[in-house]
Amino acid sequence: MEEKAGAKAGWGSHKDPSCLFCKIVAGEIPAQLVDEGDYHVAFRDINPQAPTHILVIPKSHRRDITQYDEPQQLGELFRAASTIAAKEGLTNGFRLVVNTGDDGGQTVHHLHVHVLGGRIMTWPPG
Ligand code: AMP
Ligand code: ZN
Repeated sequence: MEEKAGAKAGWGSHKDPSCLFCKIVAGEIPAQLVDEGDYHVAFRDINPQAPTHILVIPKSHRRDITQYDEPQQLGELFRAASTIAAKEGLTNGFRLVVNTGDDGGQTVHHLHVHVLGGRIMTWPPG
């Protein structure tokens, strides 16, 4: 089911009008929401790489993790990711991924934590 995230303020409420994930936060682009808090939204990845593949993003735009000076809010993002993994039933483990910059393979330049699970992960990643 597609839902709108709604735009709740948080972390200074930065918004980049050209940013895809800011548009999802604002409800301008539909997404399959799985969780929402004061500072984050979580939705299913449109191109899942595992049976469970969810993106957890801050509502306030930051290009990537290097742009954060707020450890508490960053901690809440990861706590949300962990709680979502539990809700998804990933009791045997899961993987959190934060691709950063070009060499990190980041394609959407709004910070996001991938929650991947439901299959056995390999190492090293590609
Ligand atoms: P990254 O490569 O780490 O920047 O990850 C970006 C992720 O966003 C990819 O896994 C895409 O499949 C996903 N993605 C792109 N557009 C959408 C969208 N409209 N809804 C949900 N996920 C998306
Ligand atoms: Zn954004």
